[in-house]
Amino acid sequence: MENSTKITLGAIGLGLLTFHLYCKKQRKNDTPKVFYRKKLVNNYNGYVVPPFGVYIKESERDNLPLLEHELVHWKQFQREGLLPFLINYSKEAINKGYDANPYEIEARTVESDYCKENYTECIRTGQAVTAFNPNFRR
Ligand SMILES: [Zn+2]
Repeated sequence: MENSTKITLGAIGLGLLTFHLYCKKQRKNDTPKVFYRKKLVNNYNGYVVPPFGVYIKESERDNLPLLEHELVHWKQFQREGLLPFLINYSKEAINKGYDANPYEIEARTVESDYCKENYTECIRTGQAVTAFNPNFRR
């Protein structure tokens, strides 16, 4: 094997090990960093990016129910680990869609029973406690 190839593979291995150890550390972190941004992907109001932290739209900075919702997703990451969480969450999202995804329903702690099941409509029409956003997921 060429020396340059060995160095590249070594660097990739070191990067993966560093990421793995960071993931392990973050799974034990009950107070993830919260990043506030002007605009989030897909017009979301917030989401988690495990193992890095929680992202919240700047305009929702004082929205505690929304932060609470995202912290439930963080707990799901802590409970299952990065890859199982991402795989299981995605499977549920593909099979059941966003509104009926059990990971999402679990995170809708403060919502009414109706909004737990019909979250997108509730967010768009202002019935949800977590947020009001007419362009949610459009
Ligand atoms: Zn959610």
